[in-house]
Amino acid sequence: SRGFFVGGNWKMNGNKESLGELITTLNTTSLHDQTEVVCAAPSIYLDFARSSLDPKIGVAAQNCYKVAKGAFTGEISPAMIKDCGADWVVLGHSERRHVFGESDELIGQKVAHALESDLGVIACIGEKLEEREAGTTEEVVYAQTKVIADNVKDWGKVVLAYEPVWAIGTGKTATPDQAQEVHEKLRSWLRANVSDDVADSVRIIYGGSVTGANCRELASQADVDGFLVGGASLKPEFVDIINARA
Ligand code: 13P
Repeated sequence: SRGFFVGGNWKMNGNKESLGELITTLNTTSLHDQTEVVCAAPSIYLDFARSSLDPKIGVAAQNCYKVAKGAFTGEISPAMIKDCGADWVVLGHSERRHVFGESDELIGQKVAHALESDLGVIACIGEKLEEREAGTTEEVVYAQTKVIADNVKDWGKVVLAYEPVWAIGTGKTATPDQAQEVHEKLRSWLRANVSDDVADSVRIIYGGSVTGANCRELASQADVDGFLVGGASLKPEFVDIINARA
């Protein structure tokens, strides 16, 4: 069975004081020891997050570039993320895709380079509201997943995050049925296009307005293997989300 995985995506929020308080809460509260927890910190706070979080909690960057080094002002490389002691990177987040215009092609290149650099990758996909309303959700998430899959050799280091864009930061969570439906289809896609083993083992986590109040019902769905949490990951209720699977 797949281990539960909960990521906190702090996005561009907090400072050393407020994140330090959150970190103290995480370090001193009992977290289910079967749940893998990873906090995605702003890159400038990776060192701070890694040195203050309990070592059993993982640290992720929220993005990286597609090559190891060079004249790319403002970017960070997987090698730098590893050098700060972090083991994960979030790639393809909807804000990277839709606010910063990252293409599927660029995201695929980043996935390949991050994995080659021995980082774990939390790879994000998800349809926009107009795509869901047009009935193209499957088509959109399959196409995004294909670009990721084409760039993955070792699926052991990949977590797939389904984050419907209409649910991110809106308070409109996908219903447990809506999340389960897409997660199940994504797993079938992996079965048909990658392998049975990968379909059975890859964690598919849900993101989009997950809260302490809605996490348990979502977590009870067969193909929901955890969460990627934005706003609520900055609050003490993040602990309830980590402990959502009974
Ligand atoms: P919210 O939980 O704030 O909706 O954000 C979800 C998200 O984008 C996590 O990556």
